[in-house]
Amino acid sequence: MSRNLRVGIVGAGPAGVYAADILTKSDLPDGVDSITVDILDRDPTPFGLIRYGVAPDHPRIKEIIKALKRVMSNPDIRFFGNVAFGDDLKLEELRQFYDAVVFATGARRDRDLDIPGVDLDGSFGAADFVYWYDGHPDVSREWDFQPHAESVAVLGVGNVGLDVARILAKTADELLVTEIPDNVYEGLKKNVTKDVHVFARRGPAQVKFTPMELRELSHSPTIDVIVHPEGFELDEGSMEALRAAKSQKLVVDVLQNYLAKEPTGAPHRIHVHFCQNPVEILGEDGKVVGLRTEITELDGTGNVRGTGQFKDWPVQAVYRAIGYYSDNLPGLPFDANSGVLPNDGGHVIDIDGTPLPGVYATGWIKRGPVGLIGHTKSDAAETVKMLLADAEALSPAEQPDREAVDRYLDGRAIEYTTWEGWEKLDAHEVSLGESDTHQRERKKVVERQDMVSISRS
Ligand code: NAP
Repeated sequence: MSRNLRVGIVGAGPAGVYAADILTKSDLPDGVDSITVDILDRDPTPFGLIRYGVAPDHPRIKEIIKALKRVMSNPDIRFFGNVAFGDDLKLEELRQFYDAVVFATGARRDRDLDIPGVDLDGSFGAADFVYWYDGHPDVSREWDFQPHAESVAVLGVGNVGLDVARILAKTADELLVTEIPDNVYEGLKKNVTKDVHVFARRGPAQVKFTPMELRELSHSPTIDVIVHPEGFELDEGSMEALRAAKSQKLVVDVLQNYLAKEPTGAPHRIHVHFCQNPVEILGEDGKVVGLRTEITELDGTGNVRGTGQFKDWPVQAVYRAIGYYSDNLPGLPFDANSGVLPNDGGHVIDIDGTPLPGVYATGWIKRGPVGLIGHTKSDAAETVKMLLADAEALSPAEQPDREAVDRYLDGRAIEYTTWEGWEKLDAHEVSLGESDTHQRERKKVVERQDMVSISRS
């Protein structure tokens, strides 16, 4: 007898939405005559890191939302927001409603940096700053811009480091045309940063920036990008890396252009320093007063070794942009080393390698916090293929009717939001933007309860 395959996806970011899309478009496996999917998220809104990770001055990347919206308008895919996995629903409950569960929970917090001084006032994780400027409901409405922090350090040369450096170096008024909420605009006005020093612990061929994002750094009239020549070296390992990847070569070309350029005298500067490994954040009276780096040198393979020489940089704040890290999911195994759900091509496995029946992973929780949004598509395809190949063997959900989930959430008075609810909030945010004196495309609502009330109105 054929059945409707019920799949629950935890996480409504691009990884989860792509998985839902591929699931509902795939050929039906034997014994299955339809597939319906519910996507649950602890945020009241869909789109995960596109809403709460992509910088507000990157509207082009946010355009991906249009494609995700088309996916979510499929009646076979439903959205349940404001539902926290682990608190509102545990794996046992999900297993009652779904034949298979896919975790697409991403990576939301900063990877730890274990150096002295990391807990000083003025030492910040990039993820926290990103949540703040992107108006995430669960973080403070205020950002603690240090009153005298004219020079700040950003550790890490990935795109998050670039985002953080750019937002710190731009003026609040430059960002006012974006979707930032009022509290973020007011907060940014207190930012007195003039010099942002971005530190790479390796050389130019090892940076993780992407060319377009790096080029765009100079588009603001208020910013000079200054690449410093010390440590700007390419060893044999670096040359090999450039020959192997055209995009890396483009990145180095852009860096070389910056290196050759005279500063224009713009009021804000983003400096890029190579071969400086952060070893200590220096403090006085509990506050950041500097950063100590060890100068490194390339070892011929593209890696570096320490030289035993140190340099102190007078900065009043340090932002650590050294990569994201996933949350450990209650009731599931966790590979703390890589920060992922242990899995075999997307099928979650126990510590001893035994597959967990009907439990899958996709996106950053599956492969770690690397890669652009588009990469999650191929990832989702691999996980979905595996899930569908297992379909016949999956134990059917105990309560397979679609409304069982609604009844469960209603019965526990969980104020969940839906896709229709998101459409109301979306329209509300757009109208806030339109009525703003700056005629913005959108202005974000920040308070969780406000988002929930508007969505459920
Ligand atoms: P990332 O690309 O992995 O970059 C992390 C950086 O931190 C690397 O330069 C790394 O250097 C450095 N790092 C790691 N540990 C360090 C330590 N102990 N001390 C000093 N430096 C350290 O991570 P990300 O910037 O968080 O970005 C995550 C993903 O999101 C990436 O794929 C990125 O492209 C994507 N993203 C894209 C955009 C966009 O606008 N397109 C925006 C944001 C994020 P090593 O290489 O030496 O380890």
